[in-house]
Amino acid sequence: MAKKSNLQAKTKIIGPIINFLFPQSCFVCREPGKPICSECIKSFAPAKLRCLKCGRANPFGLYCKSCHSKSKANLVLAGFDYKNPITSLIHQFKYEDVTSLSDPFCDCLAALLSKIPDNLEYKICYIPLTLKKLKLRGYNQSKLLAEGIGQCLNVTVTGLLTRVEARESQVIAQSRKLRKTNIKGAFSIKSGAEIPQKVILLDDVITTGATVEEAVKVLKAAGVKEVIVLALALD
Ligand SMILES: [Zn+2]
Ligand SMILES: [Zn+2]
Repeated sequence: MAKKSNLQAKTKIIGPIINFLFPQSCFVCREPGKPICSECIKSFAPAKLRCLKCGRANPFGLYCKSCHSKSKANLVLAGFDYKNPITSLIHQFKYEDVTSLSDPFCDCLAALLSKIPDNLEYKICYIPLTLKKLKLRGYNQSKLLAEGIGQCLNVTVTGLLTRVEARESQVIAQSRKLRKTNIKGAFSIKSGAEIPQKVILLDDVITTGATVEEAVKVLKAAGVKEVIVLALALD
């Protein structure tokens, strides 16, 4: 026991010294400098954009004509294909407190958005976490991304959506079908929130698309005219 606490004490002292000597290095190749170096970022596979309803490939981030409806997003953009090393980086960003990854992720997503000509007319909002998850993690990774992109592009961030509590966690629900059912009614508009005409909705990873589809439905029902869904990765 004494040995263990001795080791912990040593780690506490050595940790900051290591950080001082090797301040920051790429999480993928360990090259000193940024949390993800430019060479590694270039090597990540870009997202294969698809219609979120039927799954058919759509490189423009649109729903198929037959799948689109007024309650759906106008555009779905994503940075990366959800494959390693992106999967592992997002896991660290989301669950292991590695919030320094927010900067390189935001740069990539801001670059995607800068191609949208009227991007300054949008407000950015994000998928809210349940209170339980927020307490457990201490931060909402999608909110961090929204704030970082807001700063990059000088676009306002708004906490437009809230989570309706007492729902079974998506992580617990294993099957895709069950997930879709569980997410129904999971979001509402924050009381007293001003409804923008155009919204960019941030999510970290899109898997089935059920979460963002539900959130977009709520935004559109509240009077938002245009919604661009922006995700870090598409599974
Ligand atoms: Zn690297
Ligand atoms: Zn479709």
